[in-house]
Amino acid sequence: MTNSTESEGTVERNIFLSTLDKLSNWATAKSLWPLSCGLSCCAIEMMHAAGSRIDLDRFGCLFRTSPKQADLMIIAGTVTKKMLPQILTLYEQMLFPKYVVAMGSCAISGGLYAESDAVVTNITDFLPIASNVYGCPPAPEELAKAIIELQESIVKKQ
Ligand code: SF4
Repeated sequence: MTNSTESEGTVERNIFLSTLDKLSNWATAKSLWPLSCGLSCCAIEMMHAAGSRIDLDRFGCLFRTSPKQADLMIIAGTVTKKMLPQILTLYEQMLFPKYVVAMGSCAISGGLYAESDAVVTNITDFLPIASNVYGCPPAPEELAKAIIELQESIVKKQ
């Protein structure tokens, strides 16, 4: 039999007060679903991050093949001017709220191909980039770190 002090302690340990916004931000952050979409060699590193060693699934990141089920776009690789309209269409079709991570120096600034007329070097003019993953090739661990930091920033959103 428990006395009233023990009961109050149990209640305090098991009841959390929050707002719906905070709950919604927490749920969004813990279920970021990236679109399965790769543009060039950075996509191999993105696949590596989804594999068993880094295992993005354990952070709630489950890759989806449909933009209508995804809320995270990882720009993994070189963005050509020919491909840009398709990327923007996919972004438009994604769930709201949605986030974009630019992965690799090609996605961020054109990288090796920055001098080419065929390559987009200013992706921030077209998409709201929430986070950059630097490097060529960028380490899959860095992608996981960027996603975790994005999750933390979503949780802290007011
Ligand atoms: S940043 Fe490097 S690894 Fe990534 S797409 Fe460009 S050339 Fe390939």
